[in-house]
Amino acid sequence: MTFRTRFAPSPTGPLHLGHAFSALLAYDLAQASDGEFLLRIEDIDQSRSRTLWEDQIYDDLSWLGLKWPAPVLRQSDRQGVYRAALAHLWSRGLLYPCTCNRRDIAAATSAPQEGGEPLIGPDGIVYPGTCRPAHPPTGSLPDAALRLDMARAVALLQAQPLRPPLAFVEAGAGPEGETGLVSIEPDWLITHVGDVVLARRDMGGSYHLSVVLDDADQGITHVVRGQDLFSATAIHVVLQRLLQLPTPIYHHHRLIRDETGKRLAKRDDARAISTYRGEGKTPQDIRTMVGL
Ligand code: GLU
Ligand code: ZN
Repeated sequence: MTFRTRFAPSPTGPLHLGHAFSALLAYDLAQASDGEFLLRIEDIDQSRSRTLWEDQIYDDLSWLGLKWPAPVLRQSDRQGVYRAALAHLWSRGLLYPCTCNRRDIAAATSAPQEGGEPLIGPDGIVYPGTCRPAHPPTGSLPDAALRLDMARAVALLQAQPLRPPLAFVEAGAGPEGETGLVSIEPDWLITHVGDVVLARRDMGGSYHLSVVLDDADQGITHVVRGQDLFSATAIHVVLQRLLQLPTPIYHHHRLIRDETGKRLAKRDDARAISTYRGEGKTPQDIRTMVGL
């Protein structure tokens, strides 16, 4: 099996040191295995993506010395693929429309009878189930925000005759040092992950759905990405099982932090690669700064 990995930035701001580390690490791992490094533009959120940032991504990565094959896959070109997968899940009764906004969810989870703080899962507040129907909806796929009915999904996976274990191989480490074979507890998926959003009204598929379909369609064997996405991997494995897609090996890496220990954010222009370039730093300086 050829080693094939990818770097998948969203063109919603300048790449910073954290992105440089992720891209360089993926690139180095591919080189060391005589494998391939792909670039993917995660521009699914058209309201925040800008071609200006996309062009800057190509420019910064080339400057860092990275090469990737053309054409570059862009999520905005793949709405049909995401829609087809949603239709498939919908026809199996695994999705339902949700009309809640953030405020509705916050209100439902902080109601006094719920007691205490809302539970935060890999995807934010665990959805309290306000719109979850007693029976799976029928008819054709609606143009609405859609959630995965996690309890139904888990029940379906557990009823499969040759059920592959809900687990993935971690070649790097999670935030608590998780490595090797990482098992995913079905009950935890229901209580601590819950009914995640797989489609938004203004976006074809959600991040979780598109990343799983894109990695499979691009034949990615190793996903190299930050530890902030470690807990979301459980959602990705569930989707891979439901859609009968292979589970790649995951390599989650440490996050680059500022001197106060805070994770770098997109708006952290001070640590943008372009800022360092402007100051006359070299690609080797960037490698040294991120510890490569
Ligand atoms: N587009 C995501 C980001 O910029 C990365 C997704 C992934 O690597 O799975 O954070
Ligand atoms: Zn709802």
